[in-house]
Amino acid sequence: MKTINDFNFENKRALIRVDFNVPMDENFNVTDTNRIEAAKPTIIKVLEDGGSVVLMSHLGRPNGQVVPELSLEHICSKVSEVLGVQVNFVASSVGEEAEKAASSLENGQVLLLENLRFNAEEEKGGEAFAEQLSKLGDVYINDAFGTAHRAHASTTVVAKFFPENKCFGALLAKEIIAIEKVMQTGEKPVTAILGGAKVSSKITIIENILDKVDHLIIGGGMTYTFVKAKGGQVGDSICEDDKMELALEILKQAKAKGVEVHIPVDVIAADDFSNTANTKIVDVDKIEAGWQGLDAGPKTLEIFKEVILKSKTILWNGPIGVFEMENFANGTISIGNNIAEATKNGAFSLVGGGDSVAAVKQFGFQDKVSYVSTGGGAMLESLEGKSLPGIAAIKA
Ligand code: AMP
Repeated sequence: MKTINDFNFENKRALIRVDFNVPMDENFNVTDTNRIEAAKPTIIKVLEDGGSVVLMSHLGRPNGQVVPELSLEHICSKVSEVLGVQVNFVASSVGEEAEKAASSLENGQVLLLENLRFNAEEEKGGEAFAEQLSKLGDVYINDAFGTAHRAHASTTVVAKFFPENKCFGALLAKEIIAIEKVMQTGEKPVTAILGGAKVSSKITIIENILDKVDHLIIGGGMTYTFVKAKGGQVGDSICEDDKMELALEILKQAKAKGVEVHIPVDVIAADDFSNTANTKIVDVDKIEAGWQGLDAGPKTLEIFKEVILKSKTILWNGPIGVFEMENFANGTISIGNNIAEATKNGAFSLVGGGDSVAAVKQFGFQDKVSYVSTGGGAMLESLEGKSLPGIAAIKA
């Protein structure tokens, strides 16, 4: 796996695919600079080696049209500020103007290209467009994990024009190593905690992960499909009746593979999907009509805690309850605390994929786990066992 540490960028121009798809307010102020900060180590390494940098990214979904509101020019001054280096902007991503701006870069300088998705060929993975992009640098670096699952021109196709001179940026390399640690090289016992709303959106992950883990903790809305499938009474809880057979099949497969599955035994049931609903603690398989399970109960959290604290490798994807409502956030907070404790005791913990990242940030766990993945869709596809085209293109 080639990374930026395998290159000396002195007198080289690095073409770096970053993920600067950052949120902005109505006055085009960047409201969250995390993604820019995340790309900083790679950019600084090139500059410190004595090279120059051409940055390329998408912003929003312009669908191949020029949408002035989505111009990367809006974020240029913020990128300068975060990097501590003057960043120049060019109002195109390929062609004469872009090539001229790139070739006139001196060592130590940074150029930001216009939104790649203003060109329809970007998302189509157009070869000619990728070749035009390739003219802008001597070395191609992919540091955008968030788009690594897309076979776009700038994330995948462009790599073929740099057969020897391509590598992973520091951020992407960290993501890959974190996922490999869980999926391939993790110290046992390995535990996956899967929550979230539906079995249907997690099924491929569950199936793939059964080969890698010793323990599987199931929480969140998924719980009730499993419980009902086993003959329990789930009241008005979220449940996918058409996935019940699949749930039983998963349990059968887990048994055959020696994976211990832990499903909640008790829940906080509510008489409405609302933070002000009446609540009571009930056994997971005895939820009456008019009531729905919205969080894991105390007995369940004790069992989960015991499993998490003895784990050496932990993956967490998906909240354990409806954490957006304060009264049903306890299960998710408790799991976060357990993972933080296990991590402190030496376990490797990876949190990733959508809502669990939001939960981790909301409750302040991001510095207490080993790694929080930045790429939602890319992370989920990695957990599903898919080869990500952006990663495969660098490894090729
Ligand atoms: P996902 O995007 O699949 O990870 O699902 C995340 C969503 O699942 C969050 O918005 C949670 O509020 C929701 N969720 C978790 N537990 C439950 C539950 N028991 N009933 C309904 N929704 C839930």
